[in-house]
Amino acid sequence: MKKLAAGNWKMNGTAAALDEVRALIAAHPAPGCEMLLCPPATLVARMAEAAHGSALLVGGQDCHPKASGAHTGDISADMLKDAGASHVIVGHSERRADHGETDALVRAKAEAAIAAGLVAVVCIGETEAERDAGQTLAVIGGQLDGSLPAGANARTLVVAYEPVWAIGTGRTPTLAEIAEVHAFLRDRLRGRIGAEADGVRLLYGGSVKPSNAAEIFAVPHVDGALVGGASLKAADFGAIVAAL
Ligand code: PGA
Repeated sequence: MKKLAAGNWKMNGTAAALDEVRALIAAHPAPGCEMLLCPPATLVARMAEAAHGSALLVGGQDCHPKASGAHTGDISADMLKDAGASHVIVGHSERRADHGETDALVRAKAEAAIAAGLVAVVCIGETEAERDAGQTLAVIGGQLDGSLPAGANARTLVVAYEPVWAIGTGRTPTLAEIAEVHAFLRDRLRGRIGAEADGVRLLYGGSVKPSNAAEIFAVPHVDGALVGGASLKAADFGAIVAAL
């Protein structure tokens, strides 16, 4: 399977940031992994235009579970697809925390994404209190079960393990801790979707940067990364792409 370097720009970036995208594309015309950037919704179409004909894939950061309707401020998976997206992140911990998103809602969003022809990047991860209480595997196992969309297979689903306490903090789990979680997730997925699970990319996310990318990517069952802060600059994200 090709590994995946995915960038999550969060609520950052205006048209000027497309210069970084052009620089990234120029520096990595034929990356050894899949390369995805998920800008804010306002930039999806323009980034997709900038990426046209290149190896860069473009994704959204969220979608509504319904295809259309009276939902002011929301956007649907169909709209993202129409704007040129191939992927959409669902269930990021910031949305789970800031917008009260439940596993059931995340699952509905992932199913809407798949129905629209997008790859759903489903995020899960424990809080620091949950890790300290020894509940990491129970929490992420429950989140995976509850958020797993019907129709999940190696082409429709990516799972991102992002410990909440590692996001934007500069702190990461040990390589052994990442290995434990990723092996657990592969096993849990096998229990749900059988051998297809072996082709589902399991990303690690949380303070991935050029200096730690290579060692994290060498961990078994780590099939790429979901990168926040270090995806905003072409040089940093490019170095992570090159490490995969
Ligand atoms: P970070 O964010 O790389 O800035 O820690 C990761 C994420 O939230 O996806």
